[in-house]
Amino acid sequence: MKYRSTRSEETVNETYALLHGLASDGGLYVPALFPERCLTYDMVAEKSYEDIAYIVLKNLFTSFDEAELRSMIASAYSKANFSTPDIAPLHSILERLSVLELFHGRTQAFKDMALSLFPYLLVAAKEAEKETDEVLILTATSGDTGKAALEGFKDVVGTHIQVFYPTDGVSPMQQEQMQKQEGDNVNVTAIRGNFDDAQQFLKRLFVDESMAEKVAAKGVRFSSANSINIGRLAPQVVYYVAAYAELVNQGAIHRDEAFNVVVPTGNFGNILAAYYAKKMGAPIGKLICASNRNNVLTDFFKTGTYDMKREFYTTISPSMDILESSNFERFLYYVSGEDYEATNSRMKDLKQKGSLSVTAEELQRIQKDFSGQYMSDEETKAVIAQIYNSYGYLMDPHTAVAMGAYMKELREHPEDGGRHTVIAATAHPFKFPNPICEALEIQTGDTPYESLEHISAVTGVACPKQLAALQSKELRFTKVIDKESMGKEILAFVDTFKK
Ligand SMILES: *Cc1c(COP(=O)(O)O)cnc(C)c1O
Repeated sequence: MKYRSTRSEETVNETYALLHGLASDGGLYVPALFPERCLTYDMVAEKSYEDIAYIVLKNLFTSFDEAELRSMIASAYSKANFSTPDIAPLHSILERLSVLELFHGRTQAFKDMALSLFPYLLVAAKEAEKETDEVLILTATSGDTGKAALEGFKDVVGTHIQVFYPTDGVSPMQQEQMQKQEGDNVNVTAIRGNFDDAQQFLKRLFVDESMAEKVAAKGVRFSSANSINIGRLAPQVVYYVAAYAELVNQGAIHRDEAFNVVVPTGNFGNILAAYYAKKMGAPIGKLICASNRNNVLTDFFKTGTYDMKREFYTTISPSMDILESSNFERFLYYVSGEDYEATNSRMKDLKQKGSLSVTAEELQRIQKDFSGQYMSDEETKAVIAQIYNSYGYLMDPHTAVAMGAYMKELREHPEDGGRHTVIAATAHPFKFPNPICEALEIQTGDTPYESLEHISAVTGVACPKQLAALQSKELRFTKVIDKESMGKEILAFVDTFKK
């Protein structure tokens, strides 16, 4: 499969796209010829998650042979990496409402769904591209990507990983997970500021030729594990297709019946994967984009203008504290009818003016498939309490944002109530002890672990073993730097690589 840039005629092999992440013109890679409607119910009925992964991924990555792709999938979704054989269980809450649990991987966030597979894809791509340099993965994280990428790349031969996270925003549990990361090829550094700062600066370093030359002289090249890489995006398509098969299996929908999805959104990767699943043939109806108070996307879906010129808020759903959603560019590309010139000019507008707009006609088309809703922190906590008290189901704040967005959408469009809806549950609630304690009026402890004990005692939900095990691990990475020093930090890390 060829992949092309969203901003120019640049077209490359899939392995090149996997290895490089970002196109040289700053655009994102998308399939040159999208495999439209390549999936049918019969292909995925009663198949395992691994089989569905193979069926989906062989349409997006055609250069790997069947045995190779199947072996990568088997290693990624193994018992060692996922706490349930279902991988992404679909939990039914009401007759017309299910929760797709995407947090049963190693780091209790949905990022594991892709980052368990991505290192295998990258190493295979490196081989196919005859790349002999060591790969240095650079990642800016709002909390969950960093940890999932660290676990994915930990001690993978030929790779190193540098994670930057902002001091403002990540939860104490997320910080513990990253500061206590194990592995010989990892480095984790905190940046004073917020996620957008870290992500913007990193993007600049990524395309900085003098940086690339300096590390190339040491036999190293950069790559990315952020959701701009198609190797992150493609594995996320799988669980929407698996959810479709499972909904039919559970009798929640007929094989040709549409269902809606609600996705708590930050960088627009997860919801874009749902859109890809729909384009590939899953009968997804409406895609509801759920945001927190950083509601730039909610406004976009209502007005057709994406306006970043606004205050940035830190919230109790930190993985969605984002104003510049990097995967949104891919969406714009499809909105314009795969017109790279239009996409390029809109991305220029965004950079120069801080905002971009689609046409009225495009907005009308978008609104047939998408809508946006947002939730304040207070509303989110109220939803956590309401869902727990009514259904005994404990949601993390991100998932609760999606749940609340669904309830708001139903109030605006009661006609949607007849459709089955799937809420993407993106994190285990125990990653966010403080908001859960506040929502359920449980006393917080002196440490996050103590808070988790309190939550377990009240709700009966057990602490995932990886989170419990963190407590006794040693703190390894506590450095905090200014974003201007990110380049220096990377070069110093490269100097530690063994020749
Ligand atoms: C990353 C993340 C999100 C946002 O997903 P995007 O693909 O960036 O839109 C939502 N919830 C949680 C828990 C996350 O870790």
